[in-house]
Amino acid sequence: MADTIIARCEAKGLRMTEQRRVIARVLQQSDDHPDVEELYARASALDPGISIATVYRTVKLFEEAGILERLEFGDGRARYEDAEREHHDHLIDLNSGEVIEFIDPEIEALQEKIAAKLGYELRGHKLELYGVPIRKR
Ligand SMILES: [Zn+2]
Repeated sequence: MADTIIARCEAKGLRMTEQRRVIARVLQQSDDHPDVEELYARASALDPGISIATVYRTVKLFEEAGILERLEFGDGRARYEDAEREHHDHLIDLNSGEVIEFIDPEIEALQEKIAAKLGYELRGHKLELYGVPIRKR
């Protein structure tokens, strides 16, 4: 999908103030999983008038509109990514906090098989793996 976050917000009828546009642009340019504080740092670099409360309210609004996906990687902090990004799963490095994205066809197929066995057609899933790097001997 080539639509920008701003275009999708407008298509959903959200009132797009200048500050919301800045936040949408920051999200559009992010290919990681920023939390609100990180988004605030990026947005306020573009528009120093933006408050962290505005960032909070805006990501909540975008999330409720289905534009953003809210993620949580075990540290209690909400992180966000574009809901229209291609499906992928996450591996979280417990030492560095680094988030590695992956997609594994075997896992995808296995999940569909499990759902079917339980009498369901799979419509989505979330998978987070937590690990530490294997030390090379
Ligand atoms: Zn991701």
